[in-house]
This record gives sequence, structure tokens and C-alpha cells, in this order.
Amino acid sequence: MIRLEIAGIHTQLCSTLCAQCPQGATGCCKSPPEHDWSDIGRVVALGGRDWLLDQLAQGNLLPSARGLSIRRARGRASPASPRQSKCVYHGPRGCTLTTARRPATCNYFLCEDAYVDGGERRGADGALAARRAHAALMEQYERWDRELFALIAASFPEGVRWDAAFLDWLGGEVVRLPRGPRSAILSG
Ligand code: SF4
Ligand code: SF4
Repeated sequence: MIRLEIAGIHTQLCSTLCAQCPQGATGCCKSPPEHDWSDIGRVVALGGRDWLLDQLAQGNLLPSARGLSIRRARGRASPASPRQSKCVYHGPRGCTLTTARRPATCNYFLCEDAYVDGGERRGADGALAARRAHAALMEQYERWDRELFALIAASFPEGVRWDAAFLDWLGGEVVRLPRGPRSAILSG
């Protein structure tokens, strides 16, 4: 079964299959997405500026061309599991971050197995709505990242400094970004 928690750009898609993930106990957290520019700005806008600075200082978030990549660490998803490389924020009971601190992809991504399990091929309403929400959110965030990339290149031609001033600026820009028409279906 697939469940949507509609909350605009913070919308979450959840699948009951994740509790018994066919990929193993670590699920898709073996390959964490990056915090793209829009994710970083969103985290700041939700009060996470100092958390980002702390994670940068600890080396859990690493500057990259698209924003910040998440460090992978070796660990066990459960006492019986082998040690494997996975997202540094993945703990014994899944993600240790609140939805406000995760990349948006972590909140709205579902794999194809989850859509099959959710009944998409049978036309289940929840799965079809989740597919539409996924497409709308991907489109929204990709557009924002393109716009922010251009804005950052113009405003910081010598590169960004990962400090409080830059993060506050980015958080402010994300709040000001226009929302596309498709996001209206996710308004919340
Ligand atoms: S979305 Fe798919 S791969 Fe990721 S945890 Fe759920 S079932 Fe596993
Ligand atoms: S931030 Fe959380 S949900 Fe995202 S990959 Fe890491 S552990 Fe998984």
C-alpha cells in the first residue's frame, strides 16, 4: 500500500513495502541522494541552518558541484546484517533525520517495486496519485535547482563559502522562488 502525506513541497510518499524492502534492510539508503541547492535552502528555511553547519564541520555533508553530498559510512542495518556502505544517517531503525532535514528525494522517492506493490498496475488510486505527485515534485525541484544554480553562479562568481551568511542567503532565495503550476496539485 502507498500512502501520501500531502504538504506542498514537503509531501511524503510512503510504502508499506519499505518495511520488507526487497533490496535488504538498508533499502535505497545504500545510495543517498545529494542535498541539492533547493534541498539546502529548504532545510535552512525550516530552521536547519546551524544543523547544516554542524554536519559540514563533522564531515557528514561534503561540498559538491550540485550542493552537498551525504557521506556514506560502513555499518550494519540490523545486528544480523553484514556491514555495508550506506548513508551516514541510516540507523538500526531506518533514517535518523526528520523529514525537514532530509533531501526532498528521500521524502518522495519510491522505487518501481513499491509502485507495483501499491497496485499501480491495477489502477489503485493511492499508487496513481503517488506517481503524479512524484512527477510534479521532481519537475518542481529540478526547475528550482536550475534557477538556483544560475543565481549562485551570478552572485558568487568566485565560488561559495559554506558559512552562515551563504546558507541564510540560500534559504531566503528558496522561499522567494516561484512555485510552478503543477505544484498546485500538491498545495498544502
Ligand atoms: S522505496 Fe523501494 S528500495 Fe526504497 S526502501 Fe522502499 S521498497 Fe526499498
Ligand atoms: S537521509 Fe535518511 S532517508 Fe535519505 S538516504 Fe539517508 S538514511 Fe535514507
